[in-house]
Amino acid sequence: MVKDIVQKIVSLCKRRGFVFPSSEIYGGIGGFYDFGPLGVELKNNIKRSWWKFMIHERENVVGLDSSVVMNSMVWQASGHTENFTDPLSECKSCHKRFRADHLVEDIRNSGKMNEYGLSDNDLDDIAKVITKIKCPECGGELTPPRQFNLMFKTYIGPVEDDATRTYLRPETAQGIFINYKNILDTQRVKIPFGIGQIGKAFRNEITPGNFIFRTREFEQMELEYFVKPGNDDEIFHKWVEERMKWYTKILGIKKERLRIRPHKKEELAHYAKSCVDIEYLFPWGWGEIEGIANRQDFDLSQHQRFSGIDLRYFDEKENKYYIPYVIEPSCGVERVMFALLCDGFNEIEGGRTKTTKPAERSEIVLKINRNLAPIQVAILPLVRNKEEITKKAREVYQMLRSHFVCQYDESGSIGRRYRRQDEIGTAFCLTIDFESLEQDDLTCRDRDTMEQVRVKIGDLIEFLKNKFNK
Ligand code: ATP
Repeated sequence: MVKDIVQKIVSLCKRRGFVFPSSEIYGGIGGFYDFGPLGVELKNNIKRSWWKFMIHERENVVGLDSSVVMNSMVWQASGHTENFTDPLSECKSCHKRFRADHLVEDIRNSGKMNEYGLSDNDLDDIAKVITKIKCPECGGELTPPRQFNLMFKTYIGPVEDDATRTYLRPETAQGIFINYKNILDTQRVKIPFGIGQIGKAFRNEITPGNFIFRTREFEQMELEYFVKPGNDDEIFHKWVEERMKWYTKILGIKKERLRIRPHKKEELAHYAKSCVDIEYLFPWGWGEIEGIANRQDFDLSQHQRFSGIDLRYFDEKENKYYIPYVIEPSCGVERVMFALLCDGFNEIEGGRTKTTKPAERSEIVLKINRNLAPIQVAILPLVRNKEEITKKAREVYQMLRSHFVCQYDESGSIGRRYRRQDEIGTAFCLTIDFESLEQDDLTCRDRDTMEQVRVKIGDLIEFLKNKFNK
């Protein structure tokens, strides 16, 4: 059943041009995806919404676009060269590789510790558990876990040696920390203030999976919010509230499918004072879509130490220097996109329109927030063999194109075209019919309510603008 829904979403994404497996004509490449015409629209809408909510609507937050490849010292200072690892176990028979901590988590979630002769406490000792379990694929013996660094290596220039080696960034955050002083020196920002960034991140995940949930190349939307030490706890909680507001009020994700999960002490990264995950209830269970962490002064202190550059902040009000603490809300564009697709996916058995033919009994309606819909408006001439109607429909299309993301579609029966648009979440379908020729109007159909109203073509732009958020 779970597989079924995920499979249906994956197939919809492929069939309608949201997401394609990367390099498919060469047999694919694990953990990488390409985003088709509808996928790129949806991703752009998510990113625009985040940027508006996190940056444009706040006086004390500015944007940044730092490079993917940075001086390798950045990763030494941040601790990624040494610590950005996951435990890997390999099957001695089929040689499949697994995240050892995920295998242990599976046992914890299944509640079958007894079957393996393990107690709750044993589960914290990954190496011990691995000796008791077998390969989930073939039942073979697993190797003891070893730490595997997730950063993709690359070399600068023609010589490949230790001196030229660096990495593709595994998070966008470090690009912000190394520009902290540039922002302080060039913008009139005062603590508390934030720097936000959207960009690609790369992680050589041991087991990518669950479609676009865990991939090796993805985009992050991160904010580093610099605060006075002592104010960090309060501001941390405010950001958790703000971020939940974005998911529920702005994106319109169902409240009951979201939860806040505070990290347990033993789960916390060594630099974090506190951390919560915002999780979405995916078809297979709860999964992290965002992490919000209090990183304290760890990153700036490390970069100050490694670069020798003074990164302290002079607080005029307090008349003293300090290294600010940092609150970081960080989420992945693709995970948010996947959550939106799952949240909006509706399959209606038996169909919801009279024109549904028996062979097309079930209909898919993608009810994602209309402000994020990849196509906002579809223009459909009722028939395509009547020139006056198609001509008028094309005129409407031309008129709307510079205001909304539109699609013109005249192929197939009108019922089929409605269903095609419902499936990709198009917010409004406009139909130009015989009456339109006399009355200079058309019908506008709402995706969710199926309500149809006649609108004068002269009033159309204003009418539709009122339906979308500015
Ligand atoms: P996980 O525990 O799922 O591996 P994480 O805790 O390592 O995630 P963070 O380092 O907190 O993730 O990254 C912040 C956000 O970036 C995550 O909440 C997620 O939305 C996104 N993200 C992280 N890794 C991936 C990935 N491999 N594929 C897609 N998105 C990712």
